[in-house]
Amino acid sequence: MSAVAYLDHNATSPLRPAAFDAMVEAMRVGGNPSSVHAAGRKARAIVDKARREVASLVGASPGETVFTSGGTEANNLALLGAGRRRVLVSAVEHDSVRRAAPRAETLPVDGEGVVDLGALEVALAASPEPALVSVMLANNETGVLQPIGEVVRLARAAGALVHCDAVQGAGKVPVDMRELGVDYLSVSAHKLGGPTGVGALIVRKAAPLVPDRRGGGQESNRRAGTENVAGIAGFAAAAQASGRVLDVVEMRDRLELALVQTARDARIYGANAPRLGNTTCISMPGVPAETQVMALDLAGVCISAGAACSSGKVQQSPVLTAMGVPAAEAASAIRVSLGWNSEAGDIERLITAWQSLYIRVTKSDISHTPSRARAA
Ligand code: PLP
Repeated sequence: MSAVAYLDHNATSPLRPAAFDAMVEAMRVGGNPSSVHAAGRKARAIVDKARREVASLVGASPGETVFTSGGTEANNLALLGAGRRRVLVSAVEHDSVRRAAPRAETLPVDGEGVVDLGALEVALAASPEPALVSVMLANNETGVLQPIGEVVRLARAAGALVHCDAVQGAGKVPVDMRELGVDYLSVSAHKLGGPTGVGALIVRKAAPLVPDRRGGGQESNRRAGTENVAGIAGFAAAAQASGRVLDVVEMRDRLELALVQTARDARIYGANAPRLGNTTCISMPGVPAETQVMALDLAGVCISAGAACSSGKVQQSPVLTAMGVPAAEAASAIRVSLGWNSEAGDIERLITAWQSLYIRVTKSDISHTPSRARAA
């Protein structure tokens, strides 16, 4: 068993060895992919190969693949670049979608976190103005999968464009841009074992895209700035190594069973909806998520309180709030997310540490309920 049980892959998945090797190799090559000399051509060849591999991860063509600095930039580029003033987003979208479109209309979700298709239909019919609809593939906190096919069907009938944030889905479940039928799809390298700071927006051939920055003509005039060649190489290598699916559901189910057997009142959010096999969002009622995160950290287990936040701010999870989870209960929810290097021993370590905390807390009643830090 490794020294630390790292179970926070939805925040960042550790770098896969193949990605590391590809990055080192690309850094050795050096060069600017826009240069015409030999060094530049070598760098260009790395980017071109990576573009084919990342495109194939999501069933897109290389020409539709625009490399970005990550999922956040891809989401911003889609939301702002589609050029639609009217935007509809689900209530459980990542901050990088919700904040890119602060005036967007919010589509409610049900108690399992699944977007309300009836509400989408009503919202689309409410105005003749063509809209952009943005609904994620898989939620970062609960892993709940959204009915993108249905979203696309309704959106198309109303002349709307569709963006899908597939950052948490790609590399874990098969993603096919054509099958989904969306116009824009966001992916991020570090969620599937690639480096941080690199991602892509897939833009369907006929879909409009207004670039969000001025500069050189890189990425076929869709995203200015010299490409992060090593990062892109690492992204592609991780995408290839992922095999497009992550099969850890047995370990996740073993974990959930053990935790609910320990604490009968523990609740698993989104458990009745289709969801990723790597994610569990579970409460230990009355015990603040931060207390659990710290206790588990001391026991050598890395997990997060809902969303690993970038600014250390303490705020209630909008995802659980949108699902109707009472604030006090949401404050006791943690997120465990497995990945490519997770082992049964990691799960056992988490179970043991969580059980021992639960026993300590229920015996001494040290629980209290402050708000929780949010996650990525
Ligand atoms: N979208 C979702 C669903 C995410 O979980 C994240 C990261 O946490 C992002 C977008 C942002 O991706 P990145 O960290 O690459 O900017």
